[in-house]
Amino acid sequence: MSDAVRNVIIIGSGPAGYTAGLYNARAMLDPLMFAGYMSGGQLMLTSDIENFPGYPEGIAGPEMMMQLREQAERFGLEVQDKNVERIDASTRPFKVWVEGEEFQSHTLIICTGAEAIWLGAEGEDEQKGRGISTCATCDGAFFRDQEIMVIGGGDSAMEEATFLTRFASKVTVVHRRDTFRASKVMYDRAAAHPKIEIKTFRQVTKWLSDESGLTGALLEDPRDGSTEELAVTGAFIAIGHKPITAFLENQIETDEEGYIVPKGFSMTSVPGIFAAGDVVDTRYRQAITAAGMGCAAAIDAERWLEENLH
Ligand SMILES: Cc1cc2nc3c(=O)[nH]c(=O)nc-3n(C[C@H](O)[C@H](O)[C@H](O)COP(=O)(O)OP(=O)(O)OC[C@H]3O[C@@H](n4cnc5c(N)ncnc54)[C@H](O)[C@@H]3O)c2cc1C
Repeated sequence: MSDAVRNVIIIGSGPAGYTAGLYNARAMLDPLMFAGYMSGGQLMLTSDIENFPGYPEGIAGPEMMMQLREQAERFGLEVQDKNVERIDASTRPFKVWVEGEEFQSHTLIICTGAEAIWLGAEGEDEQKGRGISTCATCDGAFFRDQEIMVIGGGDSAMEEATFLTRFASKVTVVHRRDTFRASKVMYDRAAAHPKIEIKTFRQVTKWLSDESGLTGALLEDPRDGSTEELAVTGAFIAIGHKPITAFLENQIETDEEGYIVPKGFSMTSVPGIFAAGDVVDTRYRQAITAAGMGCAAAIDAERWLEENLH
């Protein structure tokens, strides 16, 4: 067991975690971060970020995350590239187990994000963050005047398809059934759009590419196994996100999908435990909103320590 009780332990090293770390380090709280299995978070998967303020030429995701880390470390954030296995939220101070070792802290900030669910079709890994994306807001502008596809049948898929018509010359929505989870109004808006075609009873079994990037997808009809090729240079997978909260073992209130439910500003259902970024955000899921929430959680943790421990 590590002897010292920390003021703040930050779990997760995406934009939310590093921003929380920067604020708490500058407030002299000597924060400790466990960066987790994906040090740097989801932006490590993307080559170009054009919508984070401060980078007029855009920046590669891994480079930006390295800069966020450097900035927080410069003020004293201690980062360990390890995964938190579980926490005990019922004791004070809180306990955190990391690779068998126990740590204690007066406050925790959970910034473990939400993973986009990918299809896992053949050839997907090579095109992730290039021709294949899970975020239309982030990557739509890279596909101007191109034919692209959106996979999914829920509100997100309909919303992304409609949004992408601003850039793309054609958007094909591919869905494996002929019934849609999307609300009628969202479905109707997408279906009526002149640039959108909806193909039902189709699932992607293989991504097609050449040296220029994505060239299309092999679609299979699940009813009879027949196949067809769809030529596209971009694809957006919109089949949902999975917040990373299983390690909390239901000690903190989450909604039915697993997102942490905020209880007044950034506080969770357990006083002294805060959450920031995509793990609590069912709506925006952007780097800048995650960073903003990290700032808020750091300030809330700082004030909570002030009010409860001093
Ligand atoms: C391909 C792609 C492209 C994107 N492009 C853009 C873009 O251009 N612009 C934009 O604004 N947004 C973009 N996004 C969205 C953006 O990446 C997220 O909104 C943002 O990263 C969320 O930040 P976060 O800090 O909440 O969590 P994340 O970045 O998801 O980080 C979560 C962190 O938690 C850690 N973690 C998880 N479990 C544990 C554990 N048990 N113990 C310790 N650590 C743990 C992980 O290691 C990771 O470091 C993109 C996303 C993807 C997938």
